[in-house]
Amino acid sequence: MIQQIAFVITLGIATFFIRKRVLRIRDNIRLGKQVAIDDRIGERFQNMLLVAFGQKKMFKKLIPAILHFFIYVGFLVINLEVLEFVVDGLLGTHRVFAPFLGSFYGILMNIFEFLAVAVLLACVFFLIRRNVLSIPRFHSAELTKWPLLDANLILITEIVLMTAILTMNASDQILQGRDEHYVATGNLFFSSFLIPLFENLSTGTLVFIERFAWWFHIIGILGFAVYVTYSKHLHIFLAFPNTYYGKLEAKGHINNMPVVTNEVKSMLGLSTEAPNPPAEPGRFGAKDINDLSWHNLMAAYSCTECGRCTAECPANLTGKKLSPRKIMMDTRDRMEEVGKSIESGGPGLNDGKSLLGDYITKEEINACTSCNACVEACPVLINPLEIILELRRYVSMEESGAPASWNSMYQNIETNFAPWKFSPSDRFNWAKEESNK
Ligand code: SF4
Ligand code: SF4
Repeated sequence: MIQQIAFVITLGIATFFIRKRVLRIRDNIRLGKQVAIDDRIGERFQNMLLVAFGQKKMFKKLIPAILHFFIYVGFLVINLEVLEFVVDGLLGTHRVFAPFLGSFYGILMNIFEFLAVAVLLACVFFLIRRNVLSIPRFHSAELTKWPLLDANLILITEIVLMTAILTMNASDQILQGRDEHYVATGNLFFSSFLIPLFENLSTGTLVFIERFAWWFHIIGILGFAVYVTYSKHLHIFLAFPNTYYGKLEAKGHINNMPVVTNEVKSMLGLSTEAPNPPAEPGRFGAKDINDLSWHNLMAAYSCTECGRCTAECPANLTGKKLSPRKIMMDTRDRMEEVGKSIESGGPGLNDGKSLLGDYITKEEINACTSCNACVEACPVLINPLEIILELRRYVSMEESGAPASWNSMYQNIETNFAPWKFSPSDRFNWAKEESNK
């Protein structure tokens, strides 16, 4: 009974913190501009199934993809075992599903153990890859301090949690032969390799180890669930909506502002519609997170910080300051800052800071070639370019702060209807020259 009460209290505390954090994240995403994304539902579901559920884009690099796949499947499937942990915890039972599933229970436990070992080995590989091998995308400036610690903490926690499952099963198997209260599971292949470590221990010690591993695992899982909401590992949930709401247009498609498009078309004589600017045109582009769309903000929470975008970015590869991964991390950090301020009754968005300037510099956004390589590389359909272009639009249109060479190009477009400094009336001079030859 005491164990049941302790379990209910533990579950309640974890649920409280998870709920609080989920609501905070939801409110932070709602700081973005409301944009309707409700078209082409079939294509969107297909994207989600292929990219988030099927991990399609991960398979560009086979070995990390297979290992990541094991972690992902392990996470989904081992959580079924957590369901039994929760029911056992609430009812004070032990392996409550075993009598209902008969011999299938043993098969299921062996599958869980296989996945636990696969997850454990994959995490060891990823720890070595991240900390020992010199892969540039894991050693950039934005991946130090908390982001580096966060990535390592998650991998170490998964290794420890998987070890707890195997330890629990090994001691449980010995107890099954000594105490009739322990439900027979049949041979559990992987944990039976640990039996020699425990078989000489007394029954009391084994019961303690089995219970300790059980509690350690369930508290670890609940703690992990709370922690994930503060971590880049939020992508395990948000990758699904993010891929669903991902951009369906061709990658080169840029979101124009209808007000400006209409005016330019009218200026070029391409539209009969009279320019009709709204009374309050609003801000051109984005200075802070509330100028970006809610989907841009959700994408920032979905970023896995894998750096595949930065590894493909020509600006970054040629030594410029720009890193598309940092653009996403900065957007999320600014959201967190504003969210915390609002939560504590502070000034929120009016704190005198902004995404542009305090987090992302003009030097970074001006280095972007708009090539879309980052968008193509992202395994969860994040589009850092959309944010960069919005920030650039603000600098150009609100501050007239684009580099001088760009400004002369803008001026040429406005006066000559082309990026060059020649008058439109001279446009066909080359043809005259050719015909005079
Ligand atoms: S679009 Fe910009 S940020 Fe993305 S890869 Fe190209 S240059 Fe880098
Ligand atoms: S934007 Fe995509 S590719 Fe870039 S770090 Fe985030 S998840 Fe990885």
